[in-house]
This record gives sequence, C-alpha cells and structure tokens, in this order.
Amino acid sequence: MLRAIAPGVHVHESEFLMSNTVVVEGDIGVLLIDPGITTGELEDLGRDLQDLGKPVVAGFSTHPDWDHVLWHESFGDVPRLGTAECAASIAELRSHDDWPAMIAEGLPPEYADEIPMALLGRITGLAEGTAQIPWDGPTVRILEHRAHAPGHAALLIEGARVLVAGDMLSDILMPFLDLDAPHPIDDYLDALTMLEGQADAVETVVPGHGAVGGSEHFRTRIQLDRAYVERMRDVLDTADPRVSPGAPLEWLPDVHRWQVQRLTERGVIGER
Ligand SMILES: [Zn+2]
Repeated sequence: MLRAIAPGVHVHESEFLMSNTVVVEGDIGVLLIDPGITTGELEDLGRDLQDLGKPVVAGFSTHPDWDHVLWHESFGDVPRLGTAECAASIAELRSHDDWPAMIAEGLPPEYADEIPMALLGRITGLAEGTAQIPWDGPTVRILEHRAHAPGHAALLIEGARVLVAGDMLSDILMPFLDLDAPHPIDDYLDALTMLEGQADAVETVVPGHGAVGGSEHFRTRIQLDRAYVERMRDVLDTADPRVSPGAPLEWLPDVHRWQVQRLTERGVIGER
C-alpha cells in the first residue's frame, strides 16, 4: 500500500526490516527509489502505481546492497540509476558467474525464496559528481558520500522537503559501517555532518528501514547515529537503545559486537 508523506511523494513499506520504497511523482511518470522486497510486494507496488495512473519513468538505487537494487518487470524497462560507484560495485558483483549464489548467501532465510533475482542490480551509473537526478520531475538532489556502502547516496526531494536517507538515520537500525572501507569511522561522521547541513531543507526523513520521521526526528537521529559512531571510535560502551538489552531487533546487539570486533581487528579502533 502506498502512503502519501508529502505532496507528490509516497512510501511503500515492506515486511522485511520495514524496508521503504519511495515513489516521487513527476510530470509524465514516477521515479521509483529502492523498490522492494518480495515478488508479492513488488507486484502490489506495480498495481498501486497503476492506480496512481502514472508509469515508472526512472529508478534510483541509493546503494548497491541487494535490498536496494531490486526490480520487477511490471515497472518496465526504464533507466535504473545510481551513483557511478554504486553501479560499478554491483556490476563487479554481477561479473561473477555465481553472483546469484553469492547474493543468496546473505539473504534472510525466511524471505530468500520470495526475492526476485532476475533483474537485480542492473544499475546505470550517473557521471561522477552528478548533482541531481536527470528526469522529468521535481528536483531531486543527489547527496553522495562514503558511509555504509560504496557510492551511497541520500536524495533530497527539494520541493517536497523530503530526505531519502538510504541506509542511514533509521530508528530501528544503528549505523552499519562499511567495514572494508579505508576510513569507515571518518566516512560515517563526515556523511552525518553533510546530511546535518541540509537540516533547514528537510521536513520529512525516510530511512531505508524503519519509520518515516519529521524534521525533529531527522535531527535527533543524526545525533543518535553520531553518538553511536563516536563512542565506537573512542572505544566506549554504547547506550544506544537499538543495540542495548531489550533492543527491538534482538539480533542487532550481535551485529554491533561484530562491527566492534572487525574494526578492532583492523586497527581502525583501539583494543577494549
Ligand atoms: Zn538496506
């Protein structure tokens, strides 16, 4: 089901990890951001778009993780865009003969059979430094940075004042750092500062996973995410409710400990 969150902007929430698809209405059709997740949900979304009466004219993936590069034939064969680095990253993965198996390894078992692989990851990279999505619709600015994943981009739908955060600024997930990046901590903090710089332009924030928030949530989530990363950097325990005992997602504290362990092993942060 599509839910309007701002003029000309709708969200579809999937069952898996509260994944958000964003639909932006343009002049002749819609821009589809990170459509997901299961075949049934994508078919539902296709029907909702039909009811809206506008075809899909473009897609955008905020980053190259499997749950953000899905597609369904009912959306049509239109340009599916991402940053140059996002496209290069998923193209590299797809260059392996056994890429479907490589992706299948990381899928949540309870959804694995329902996730459509056929059109996964066919992303066209925009030229480096492209400032806005090229399409017939409202201005959507691309805020590329290096937190979470290669080529990760947040999008600012200017007129509607909506920030699509990709896998950042979630109320249910703490920051997932790109553990293989040369500077995962600095990258994340830099990205938060960059997003914070947009605060006056943001009335609504849509995380890749979790609840849509208002401008006050945008600000508090930046603070919470920054505190999480800074305490990790400073080798301090965290009081982040998303990874503390009683966390809403019971497996998340384990991911937190694993992040700490990997960064410690790499020498990115000091020993505990
Ligand atoms: Zn995600």
